[in-house]
Amino acid sequence: MTTPDPAQNTRPHFDYYTGRAVVNLAAIRHNVALMREKVRSHSPHTQIMAVVKGGAYGHGLIESARASAQGGATWFGTAQASEALELRRAGFDQRILTWLHTPGIDFAELIRHDIDISVAGPWAVSAVRDAAREVGKPARVHLKVDTGLGRNGVTLADLDQMLVPLIAAQDEGTLEFVGIWSHFAFADEPENPTVLAQAETFKQAIAQAEAAGAHLEVRHLANSAATLLNPSVYYDLVRPGLSVYGLSPAPQIGDAAHFGLIPAMTLEADIATVKKLPAGHGVSYSHQYHTEEDTRIGVVPLGYADGIFRHASGTADRGGLGAPIQIGDQRVSIAGRVCMDQFVVDLGPDTRTVPGDTAILFGDPATGVPGAEDWAVAAGTISYEIVTRVGERVPRVYIDDEPV
Ligand SMILES: *Cc1c(COP(=O)(O)O)cnc(C)c1O
Repeated sequence: MTTPDPAQNTRPHFDYYTGRAVVNLAAIRHNVALMREKVRSHSPHTQIMAVVKGGAYGHGLIESARASAQGGATWFGTAQASEALELRRAGFDQRILTWLHTPGIDFAELIRHDIDISVAGPWAVSAVRDAAREVGKPARVHLKVDTGLGRNGVTLADLDQMLVPLIAAQDEGTLEFVGIWSHFAFADEPENPTVLAQAETFKQAIAQAEAAGAHLEVRHLANSAATLLNPSVYYDLVRPGLSVYGLSPAPQIGDAAHFGLIPAMTLEADIATVKKLPAGHGVSYSHQYHTEEDTRIGVVPLGYADGIFRHASGTADRGGLGAPIQIGDQRVSIAGRVCMDQFVVDLGPDTRTVPGDTAILFGDPATGVPGAEDWAVAAGTISYEIVTRVGERVPRVYIDDEPV
């Protein structure tokens, strides 16, 4: 009997996979550089924090962070501390902020690795203070304020109970209270009255913290949409995520090209099968699609195990046709249900598509292929989720094609 040696398996299934997410690092560099220039033209001192949570929105944490830094990002942001540590261990020396923690987290490890820590409740302040004493090095802390999103962070009503222990720990040298920050509920609707209200509340929180004795280094509020649409909230740092990867955070206002962004990810697969089916034949589970004529169907070997949304299926109520697919010069749609590993397209009787041809699910619409936003519409979600949920098992292939 033998047992497998995990060390032998350094390229798991990479060479045997039927599809891939091709990530253009030049696009990420371009997008960050574009936002940096835009921000700089309004506010010369403002820095860019590239938000790389969720494995850089599915694009790959390390590679995307490197490209973002090359584009001019001087900070990284992650929700999970594990991703912050992964970046530091990979050798990045930029500032890194991490912001979603639960009691029991080993803050000492973050302090040792020089990672900025967001606190959003009293338990976190005392845990960070204790960890900093243990390490013997001051922790750098950003206070998350809930200015109206109604999610993580402290409301103005609870601000004082956070400021007292924070300032005390600052004054004893246990921590550096470096930042105040918040997040918008409606950044993609700059005219929404909550945007102005949140910006006002943010100003009050800063004033209150400074009056209490905070020596703040950075105040930050803007995500992608605010970075692209609302220079009045740039402050010292902006935190774009989605737009780093070239997708529009406000599709109702403009697509990626409108904002000068270049989508970085192309999701593609090689056609496994092309075969004839007669008219009136049901296709895929529960026959939501029926062929209208004698035709040829193609099998595209990616499915919901790869993060392909089953909600992007062609269901009978939408004529059996779902999300768009580009195969050579043919634009087709998913026919019938998306399965775990595959779905079907109706190529028509006269198709020239053969097994091995590349099916592009989404990429840069400026090149004539569907975009992640088209998939978001088909699946009833947002482009954030389309790219972030591309399965971990799908190989990421990195290219570096300078945009023209
Ligand atoms: C995800 C996130 C961002 C980035 O948001 P985008 O809309 O992708 O730009 C910024 N700040 C916080 C707190 C976040 O959670």
